[in-house]
Amino acid sequence: MGTGLPGGNYNKFGQLLADAVNKYSAQTGFRIKPRPTDGSISNLNGLRDGRFQLGITQADAEYMAWNGKGHWEKNGKFKSLRTVYELYTEAVTCVATVESGIKTCADFRGKRVALGTEGSGTHINALQALATCWLKTSDLAQALSINPPQAAKLMTQGKLDAFFLTVGHPNNQLRKFIASYGRANMVPFAPTKAMTAEAPYYQKYFIWTSDYPGLRNSGMKVETCGIPSFLVTTDKVPAKTIYEISRIFLSQLEYFKKNMAPMREVEPPERQSSRDLNWGISAPFHDGMKQLLKERGIK
Ligand code: GLU
Repeated sequence: MGTGLPGGNYNKFGQLLADAVNKYSAQTGFRIKPRPTDGSISNLNGLRDGRFQLGITQADAEYMAWNGKGHWEKNGKFKSLRTVYELYTEAVTCVATVESGIKTCADFRGKRVALGTEGSGTHINALQALATCWLKTSDLAQALSINPPQAAKLMTQGKLDAFFLTVGHPNNQLRKFIASYGRANMVPFAPTKAMTAEAPYYQKYFIWTSDYPGLRNSGMKVETCGIPSFLVTTDKVPAKTIYEISRIFLSQLEYFKKNMAPMREVEPPERQSSRDLNWGISAPFHDGMKQLLKERGIK
């Protein structure tokens, strides 16, 4: 299973899912091995080339892979991609130093900014965030393709003005960084009409400043853009395997909620309207998930 960077939520979710599923390996005959990755794009590429059988991705990256856009324009549509279940909403998040004076997206001009690595969904969103103010990477003093932990380190050394990460909130690693750094702001970034018109999964979202003690923002919340995340697989994985994983996952939602704050919002399929259940999904549900939904009386 392709997950994400250690300290991120994808990585944590992968560990929790593996722990839950591997308890039953004597009965099911398989195990999940979570692997650290750079995030959404790495996970989708790993699924495509057969290195992974499970992964986590942002809805926008899933959409691009399924439709052969963006990063997948060259390699073509990823039609064997399948959705297992929606996890939680992630938010385009930008942390800037107080000294940088970055308060809105227009202030990035001439600044040193970390955009995330190219294997991450963060990278897609960082470029979009700049584009909402008609900025390109060439308008920055430095545009670094490094991951959030590397960026946080540079910021501490006074070598970086801002970094992006698309992550579910609250995130423990970010909380620790903001508290210890002490001079960070979060930059608001609203999805533009053009973005929401093209992709309904870009929604207005609020990050609660109370989740990040030490943050210098005034006000209770930071407006930004939210994106659903999904557990995904391919049609090469047998229906029985995904059925078992999904059954264990849905029967233990309380365990995930207890151990991972962003999972608090995840609901069983019975508590969702069909619109919500299918919200933002580009690749169809895997046959194993379809079987489970049918068994639970959900169309
Ligand atoms: N959404 C991020 C990405 O695809 C990963 C977030 C995480 O690791 O929790 O880049």
